[in-house]
Order: sequence, then C-alpha cells, then structure tokens
Amino acid sequence: GAERTKNVLILMSDTGGGHRASAEAIRDAFQSEFGDEYRIFVKDVWKEYTGWPLNDMERSYKFMVRHVQLWKVAFHSTSPRWIHSVYLAAIAAYYAKEVEAGLMEYKPDIIISVHPLMQHIPLWVLKWQGLQKKVVFVTVITDLNTCHRTWFHPGVSRCYCPSEEVAKRSLLDGLEESQVRVFGLPIRPSFCRAVLSKDDLRVELEMDPHLPAVLLMGGGEGMGPVKKTALALGESLLDEGSGKPIGQLIVICGRNKVLASTLEAVDWKIPVKVKGFQTQMEKWMGACDCIITKAGPGTIAEALIRGLPIILNDYIPGQEKGNVPYVVDNGAGVFTRSSKETARLVAEWFSTKTEELKRMSENALKLAQPNAVFDIVKDIHELACQRGPLANIPYMLTSSFTSII
Ligand code: UDP
Repeated sequence: GAERTKNVLILMSDTGGGHRASAEAIRDAFQSEFGDEYRIFVKDVWKEYTGWPLNDMERSYKFMVRHVQLWKVAFHSTSPRWIHSVYLAAIAAYYAKEVEAGLMEYKPDIIISVHPLMQHIPLWVLKWQGLQKKVVFVTVITDLNTCHRTWFHPGVSRCYCPSEEVAKRSLLDGLEESQVRVFGLPIRPSFCRAVLSKDDLRVELEMDPHLPAVLLMGGGEGMGPVKKTALALGESLLDEGSGKPIGQLIVICGRNKVLASTLEAVDWKIPVKVKGFQTQMEKWMGACDCIITKAGPGTIAEALIRGLPIILNDYIPGQEKGNVPYVVDNGAGVFTRSSKETARLVAEWFSTKTEELKRMSENALKLAQPNAVFDIVKDIHELACQRGPLANIPYMLTSSFTSII
C-alpha cells in the first residue's frame, strides 16, 4: 500500500549561524532526495517550550562568546559527563512536561539533533514514552574537531561525525563503531550542487569583473576582528606607486548591524562592498578568490567546497579551536590574529604569490566533502526503513513522566 509520509523533527538552536545552516541543509536534502516521503520540521524546542535557561540560550551564548573567558570556563567546566548530566537532568525534570509536549506535537518518526545540548532531554522523553525503539534518533555533529562531550550520547541510533578526529573522540566517549559514521559536515544542497561561473556571478553581484576579490566575514553574527581587518585591507590592497587597487573587498557582516553601518561610513580607496546577512553565500564565495573568517565550521566547510584559501583570524574557545589545525595542517589556509599580517598576506596572494594561492585552493578542494549532506539523509532513510512500518507509533497524550514525579 501507499507509504505514509514520515515526520522528521530537526532540533536546533540559533546559537551562531551554524546549527540553523546545518538543519536547513538536512531539510533541503531530504526534500531533494525523497520529496513527499518526509515532512520536515526544524524547531528550537527549548525556545518554544521551556523557560530559563534553555529558552535563553541564544542570548546567553551571544553574551558568553563576546566575553570569551566566560565561554572558555563554561565550555570546559561542563565537559565531565557527571556535571552536564546532572545539570541537564535537573532541567529536564523541571521542564519535562513542556518539552515532552513540544516534541510529541510533531509525532516524529525520526528526530535529528544538530545541537550539543539536544541529546539527553529528548532521549529521556522517548524513554518515558517507551518510544526509544520506535523513533529513530540521530545526532549530526557540527563541530569539525574539538567538540563538546554533550554531543556524544550512547542512546542514539547514529552519530554522524564530520571528521575522523571527531569519530575518534566519540568512540573514546563510549559510542560503538556501529553507531558512528563519518560523511563530513552537512552543507546546504544549493551550495554543493551549484554550478557557478565566477564571471557571471561577478556581473550578478555587481563586482569588479577583473580585480581579485577577498571575502571577509565572521559567522552568522559578524564576530571577530572584522573591522580592523577591513581597514587594514583597504590600505594593503592599494598599490602605492600607481594609486590603483590590486584587489577588491567584500565584507559580509551577518546580523551585526553596528559593524555594517560602521564600515559603510568609511571612505574606501579600493572597491568595497559591505553587506548584512546574506542568504546566498554560495554566490559570494563563488565570486571571490579567498576568504578571511573566524574558525566557524560552517563557513570553513563551505569555503572548502568553493576551493577558497582560508585565513582564519579568530576562533571561539572550545569548539572552534580544533578547526584551526584542520585547515592549516591540511594546507588549505593559514591562521593569524594580526590584521596587518592578514592584509599583507592577501596583498601578496594577489600580486607576487599567486602560485601559493592556487596551491591552497587545490588543497581546499581536496578537503571538501560536498556530498556529506546527501550521504547523511540516505543513511537516515535506510535506518527508518529498517524500523519497518512506522504508522502505528503509540504516542501518548499525557506525560508518563510527570505522573511518576
Ligand atoms: N551565513 C549566512 N549569511 C551571512 C553570514 C553567515 O548564510 O550573512 C552562514 C554561513 O554561510 C555559514 C553560517 O552562517 O553557513 C555560519 O556558520 P559558522 O559555523 O561558520 O559560524 P557560527 O555563526 O555558527 O558561529
């Protein structure tokens, strides 16, 4: 008979741009691969169904990453399993009813978590409901290397790791090899399958058709030394002798409106475009020749797919630190915190060291994993098929857990 449409619930949080980007990548890949077979819901269950501190993660996270020392302490002090388990259990007990209602509203056949804090509580809810054998629960890790241990939960059907390094950590943390798959970081299909010509893109984006272009950004929130770097590039990309530019600059400020208006007010001597949050990053990346960014996993993975050499100028302590050696040791870029150094490097790449730029671009393409998101959804589809007919999942209307306590 005709298969029932299956419900997929993707759990994410808007802490940074990366989790949402991964969630949307998975949603789009389900749609492109399986069409109407799946109905996808992308939800921030915490924000919608709980109170403080879970509904406030976005703000707390933004506050903490702006005060990096605070974030460092939070990241490392919650690493031991007993600490985060106790903490999450306490929160789970407190918000059990709301979270349970929030999850069950979507009657999920499959739950996908793309957030380090969305394993424990949903898995407990499935247990209380007696559904852990019926609902497929998988984790898609979105940190390339030094990820937080709350990502790893032995109760998942699958844990998708973006790199061998993360897979190694997951095994050390008690996952079985049968649970772990390494496909790469999921990137939006529009990115992976785009066939773009640089010349056409430059026309469409109203850029200079000939000058080499550097893209400067700082994740979804426009973080890191973007302003200082832009100003330094404004000088280094101007040829002193002729007074002519040797390159052009694109600055994408994400949701950082203050940064955008500050940079728009500058009297630039080279061609510069300052942009707020962009929805077609694949075009901007396709139109440029190299990128400067903080070590966000999403931006890095996307830049690799487009073959852009990467200058990493910052990282969020903890989860982004390991992204630096991932890029640098593989010859796809360099790390420097100095804006002057960054500006000098780009000027060299655009004049005397074009060979170096080309070599790094080739290395970037070698590291790229454009098919990761398709491999992930196909594997999830197979898991769902193995569970057999899902039509009769016995969702309970009232919480069994709250009746226990
Ligand atoms: N991004 C975007 N538009 C923007 C700025 C960023 O779509 O204007 C996307 C970017 O392409 C990437 C994500 O936001 O997919 C940023 O993720 P990353 O992991 O690099 O950093 P985060 O913002 O999560 O710290």
